[in-house]
Amino acid sequence: MKILVINAGSSSLKYQLFDMETETVIAKGVCERIGADGSVLTHKACGESFVYEEPMKNHVDAIALVFKALTADKGGVIKDMNEIDAVGHRVLHGGEKLFDSMLVTPEVEAAIEANIPLGPLHNPANLAGIRACRDMMPGKPQVAVFDTGFHHTMPPKAYIYALPYEYYTKHAARRYGFHGTSHRYVSAEAAKLLGRENDPELRIVTCHLGNGSSFAAVKGGKCVDTSMGITPLEGIPMGTRSGSIDPALLEYIMGLENLDIHQMLNVLNKKSGMLGVSGVSSDFRDLWAAKDQGNERAALALDIFCYDGAKLVASYAAAMGGCDAIVFTAGVGENDNRARAGICSYLEFMGIKLDAEKNNTRGTVDLSAPDSKVKILCIPTNEELVIARDTKALI
Ligand code: ADP
Repeated sequence: MKILVINAGSSSLKYQLFDMETETVIAKGVCERIGADGSVLTHKACGESFVYEEPMKNHVDAIALVFKALTADKGGVIKDMNEIDAVGHRVLHGGEKLFDSMLVTPEVEAAIEANIPLGPLHNPANLAGIRACRDMMPGKPQVAVFDTGFHHTMPPKAYIYALPYEYYTKHAARRYGFHGTSHRYVSAEAAKLLGRENDPELRIVTCHLGNGSSFAAVKGGKCVDTSMGITPLEGIPMGTRSGSIDPALLEYIMGLENLDIHQMLNVLNKKSGMLGVSGVSSDFRDLWAAKDQGNERAALALDIFCYDGAKLVASYAAAMGGCDAIVFTAGVGENDNRARAGICSYLEFMGIKLDAEKNNTRGTVDLSAPDSKVKILCIPTNEELVIARDTKALI
């Protein structure tokens, strides 16, 4: 069985083709600059890269080019698209009603559309990806997997904002959380590693640290709290996002800097976080290099990240009445041993003790010192595999 996984953004579209017998990726790639000049598809298969510099004015063009790359003489891995059994789509915002992965029907499509106000950048792109695949492969089963889905089990005390309650009942304004497939995958892998797969008492804090970062408190396999909110802006400072701030700051800065709300939100999403504080970069590799050369603002940005991250881990331990394991994943969590060490150094009071030598290794590893009271795990995430598995299960 072959399953194509699509992650459509507003101007990009990533894909992976899975052979589900072996759960391996046969080919993958990314279309960039869709709808702009210089659009390009980079396709990877059989250990080689193939670049298609062809115009893609929309997602239909992008999907058509993906199909061309998948079936090409060079770098092609299938003869025609009928070899694909189904398509799984990452959909950003499921809102309150869509959480389990599901086959796309006209009703599901309408519901994803109804959630556009909650995910104004992503949901239209996700829908464009779904519609483009439907046009190119009529009748082929398509599955939607929601980035918010895993967090659906949070109790109201975790998801209700302390605002007039009508904002929730009238406008569905609440915490939703994101990176759900990642938190779901690594928490399940951690439970397996710990030999406690069906233990309702197992308490894990998952730390998805990438360009965007989010934390989740997972008890007995179910999410009970998470750090991102109604949008991915909430939580700890990220590459370019501010994370949580005092909302009254907006009026103050908007007045002084003469910004409207859209410009202000652009600053909070694209010019803040690690980049904003350091003035150097949003990339952690650049930040450590700058810190090593004595850049104090890079050092401050990194310290804020570790300090705020540790405060979230500790608060989730409070939320769950303790913590058995913390899991690091995503670009920073999997690769940045100094960020992991920085977060853990603030948590020694909880008996969290990192093994410095193990912390220098890569891949799935137990990083905890023998006398650590809490397991510290690094587990590479695999959101696409979760989408492919859900798709297979549904067809
Ligand atoms: P996204 O949220 O876009 O999926 P990723 O999870 O791929 O992001 O994380 C990307 C980030 O991971 C980069 O911006 C960089 O800061 C960080 N990163 C990647 N590799 C390393 C590394 N070897 N050391 C430190 N940080 C790294």
